[in-house]
Amino acid sequence: MNLSHSTSPRRTMIQVKGVSKSFGANQVLRDISFDVKEGEVVVLVGPSGSGKSTLLRCINFLEEFQAGQILVDGSAVGYDGGPSGPGRRRQSEGSIAQLRTKAGMVFQNYNLFPHKTALENVMMGPVQVNGESKAEARAHALTLLEKVGLQERAHHFPLQLSGGQQQRVAIARALAMRPKVMLFDEVTSALDPELVEEVLKTLRDLSTEGMTMIIVTHEMQFARDVADRLLFFYQGAIIEDGPPAEFFANPKTERFQAFVRRFQ
Ligand code: ADP
Ligand code: MG
Repeated sequence: MNLSHSTSPRRTMIQVKGVSKSFGANQVLRDISFDVKEGEVVVLVGPSGSGKSTLLRCINFLEEFQAGQILVDGSAVGYDGGPSGPGRRRQSEGSIAQLRTKAGMVFQNYNLFPHKTALENVMMGPVQVNGESKAEARAHALTLLEKVGLQERAHHFPLQLSGGQQQRVAIARALAMRPKVMLFDEVTSALDPELVEEVLKTLRDLSTEGMTMIIVTHEMQFARDVADRLLFFYQGAIIEDGPPAEFFANPKTERFQAFVRRFQ
């Protein structure tokens, strides 16, 4: 059962409040606000260049933003001293590193360390960043590799694995940091078509277990199946926000109609 379908009141895990961001004169995010509740799966769709990756990078504190505030599990990401004005200042690197571990992020390019095995790739962060003992990290890593269906591949090097398997190792590596939320940025876009489904299955399993997730994808059928809520991004703004069934049956904007037509 997906926890997100239960009726009990749930904690807000991610709060994005009035976030705006520019790269020089190019405004990429325009006053973005939304919440993600514990166990909820929010899928972001939208044309290339609409700001989806930039938003995920802001949530994981890989990018600064000029206005607004983001909270992950109650902690402000990026800034303290309020949403804007003179009190606004960047947090120290120490707390940035700590905050970053609240959100696990997986990208299109899995970037595993090529000279380390799957198991070593998954163990590294917990030992080096979280200070876990090697024994504890190893036991947890093996559990996670089993969860993503790769227990048989723990001692393989990345180049001995398919793209889909490498991406599943990357997901296990992010989970090893014990994040509160997971952010996925087009994690199947670089894969051969026959490898896409095994990675999507891993995301479905995580959703069933109640993981809070934001997923950027162009896999529309998957988005329909797994999303509790879809957000449609267009030129840095959210122009539609709702449950997927409603979204597809009754799109409010011509822009979204035009966008989904490309995938049908
Ligand atoms: P999406 O993920 O929806 O394709 P992005 O968030 O990658 O969109 O990009 C949104 C806009 O921000 C684009 O116009 C892109 O060129 C610009 N952009 C992204 N990253 C940078 C950067 N590091 N420097 C300057 N412009 C950037
Ligand atoms: Mg992107």
